[in-house]
Amino acid sequence: MRHVSHAPDPILQAEIGRYIVAWYRAGHRDLPWRRTTDPYRIWLSEAMCQQTRVETAIPYYERFLALFPTVADLAAADLDSVLAAWAGLGYYSRARNLHAAASEVVRRHAGVFPDTVEALMALPGIGRYTAGAVASIAFGRPAPIVDGNVRRVLCRLFALEGDPSRPPLDGILWEVAAALVPTDAPGDFNQGLMELGARTCAPRSPACGACPVAARCGALRLGRVAEIPSARARPPAREVERVGLAVRDASGALLMARRAPRGLLGGLWELPGGDLEAGEAPPEAAARLAEGSLALAGGALEARGRVEHRFTHLRMVLWVLEAPAARGVAPSPFGGYDALAFLGPPARGAVALSALALRSLHLLGEPDGHERARRTGPP
Ligand code: SF4
Repeated sequence: MRHVSHAPDPILQAEIGRYIVAWYRAGHRDLPWRRTTDPYRIWLSEAMCQQTRVETAIPYYERFLALFPTVADLAAADLDSVLAAWAGLGYYSRARNLHAAASEVVRRHAGVFPDTVEALMALPGIGRYTAGAVASIAFGRPAPIVDGNVRRVLCRLFALEGDPSRPPLDGILWEVAAALVPTDAPGDFNQGLMELGARTCAPRSPACGACPVAARCGALRLGRVAEIPSARARPPAREVERVGLAVRDASGALLMARRAPRGLLGGLWELPGGDLEAGEAPPEAAARLAEGSLALAGGALEARGRVEHRFTHLRMVLWVLEAPAARGVAPSPFGGYDALAFLGPPARGAVALSALALRSLHLLGEPDGHERARRTGPP
């Protein structure tokens, strides 16, 4: 790995800052969170736009604010309703952290958002990037931000080589971003940098002809735009196989289980089930869970098929088996679940279901199931 550059000289810094701010002010996208300096709304937009496209996030952002218009409303809500409002955005740890951080803002800061990077980073789920975004956009503090888009822009602009998500280049990029952010317009500069990465300096075929800093771009000058930043080697996805049991009560409502708040898919509802043990076939695992964990009376389990979902580093395969109708069963939570309940379609509409749960419901012919389930990512 070769590091060709580091923080730019002060004249170049000021020039790049001016160009990006002017470009942003002349024609940025009119996004709902760009019409406000309310830290709660800016924080929410940053949380939603991580791992999610802006166009997808907008309706969620508006619905979420209609349900929880202030940080105090979010803190007072129960986690199930917050996760239900988030359902479909994926990466549910973001919603759990929003809820936990809102409670902290109310409890420790009397409902008033802290305005420094350090105090923001002390809140659950707020890292250096989000803290920098809120501090600069809502409070006008000259705090840097570095996300995937900004990494790409800065690597190209200063012809920085290496893996931008790992040390030492990751640290160098934070230094460069801190040197560039102007004290008189930090929010517009940071938003301009993000916008530049999202719209102009695209991963493939960047629109260099429309770029406000093309005249200063090292990668363009060297003819190396296509090679910078270096591609990241991804480890192969691990595969996990599970079974899910379809158990109905006399009314036909399905038994659903809620995962405990922490960990993969925490707080989401699904068919009760568990991972296959080493050497176990799906029917054996289903019988083990039916008779052991769920204490169902013996009876043939009917295989209904399989569904799967790919997470970033994991492919989960779920075998769905239907058990005979439950009579007088009052199962208690087991194996990573903190609640079990028979839920029909209307009740399921009020809770957050994982993508695999929605696909399982489709497989079972339930009216609220989706074959192409809403996207669900890691916790
Ligand atoms: S000139 Fe091209 S490669 Fe360089 S920062 Fe602008 S869009 Fe990116």
